[in-house]
Amino acid sequence: MNHFEYKNGTLFCEEIAVSEIAKEVGTPFYLYSKATLVRHFEAFDSGFADIDHLTCFAVKSCSNIGILSLFAGLGGGADIVSGGELYRALQAGVDPRRIIYSGVGKTEDELRYGLKSGILLFNIESEQELYRLNMVAADMGLQAPVAFRVNPDVDPKTHAYISTGLAKNKFGIPISEAVDLYVQAAEMENIAVKGVSCHIGSQLTLISPFIEALRKVKAFIQRLADKGIIIEYIDLGGGVGIVYDDEKPPHPREYAKDIKAELTDLQATLIFEPGRVIVGNAGILVTEVQYTKTNRGGEKEKHFVVVDAGMNDLTRPSLYDAYHKIQPVEEKTKNRKTVDIVGPICETGDFIGKDRDFPEVEQGDLLAVMSAGAYGFTMASNYNSRPRVAEVMVSGDKFAVIRERETVESLIQGEMIPDFSGE
Ligand SMILES: *Cc1c(COP(=O)(O)O)cnc(C)c1O
Repeated sequence: MNHFEYKNGTLFCEEIAVSEIAKEVGTPFYLYSKATLVRHFEAFDSGFADIDHLTCFAVKSCSNIGILSLFAGLGGGADIVSGGELYRALQAGVDPRRIIYSGVGKTEDELRYGLKSGILLFNIESEQELYRLNMVAADMGLQAPVAFRVNPDVDPKTHAYISTGLAKNKFGIPISEAVDLYVQAAEMENIAVKGVSCHIGSQLTLISPFIEALRKVKAFIQRLADKGIIIEYIDLGGGVGIVYDDEKPPHPREYAKDIKAELTDLQATLIFEPGRVIVGNAGILVTEVQYTKTNRGGEKEKHFVVVDAGMNDLTRPSLYDAYHKIQPVEEKTKNRKTVDIVGPICETGDFIGKDRDFPEVEQGDLLAVMSAGAYGFTMASNYNSRPRVAEVMVSGDKFAVIRERETVESLIQGEMIPDFSGE
């Protein structure tokens, strides 16, 4: 359920017409519904209310501090993958003892920043990272709390680019080799072994791969116990899918029920790192039609709707061939035909939607690209020297700009024309 609905033929976000906001902030812009964000966070989190757990929102899916602070206020933590995300999470008021640091390539500076901030866990993804962290922690006179991200070799049955839990993926440590690493870590002076972590992929529409991974993690924890290593945290990552088109992902409640059924006899705090399932359907991208045109001369006529948002603003269609529902902000029914909805970028791969059965639209009409809250703005770039768009949040009948539209001046900030004349 989300709060983007038509009332009298015009799209509303909660109690404000999307067109009203467009008039004030211009297009394109990302629009988030606060009520939907809260609802989705709570739908996920409440599934685990009866067990020790921590819901650490995956910052990379939607990292605006206005959104992070909302989840922090609901008791959520953060799953981060860079020093930049750590900075954001702290600025947003996320309690560092609820921050988990994932990622295969943490630099020495990033490890130091995490230690200094007092985060809950580092999810270690290689032996070299363990040694580096131990060294940095020793240098700072601290003990670093760690979990190892194990790779359970489970097929998440999702897009190849967002599968992470197969042995051939770069993520984690093969579960078969990880016991030795835990034994080494347990003997390191500046490392405190705390947990086991896994994250097998994103946009999963089946529960079974999660359960398969959890079973492997449980067996693994037993092997650790046999070596005298006791685990306090089990981090099951994120990955629950959402409806973009006609997918049938599990409801978070079902996911929680099935996970909990597997937990009998485990004494540990569960950690989750959901991203998409919380924000995906809580945000849309609003864009304006610039031109419509028909190219003849091919095998058949091809109709295009050129909009002011491009692949730099929403990368998922170009990158993953992802589907986003697109609909006119003012409901239309006339003259449906098959169109490609494309952006202004000089790349054939620049499209928002292909071969869509779409009503006739004209210059100046607003379109809503649905389900754009996750991996939307966070993957945006300045390609083609396009300022990144504004982000707006609605609450009831009010809205607030939570990130200003970039300006052309901001695009060249920090750039310099070098002067070598003195050489
Ligand atoms: C991307 C990522 C997540 C979030 O995945 P979603 O599919 O958005 O829930 C969680 N944990 C890690 C380690 C990730 O890389």
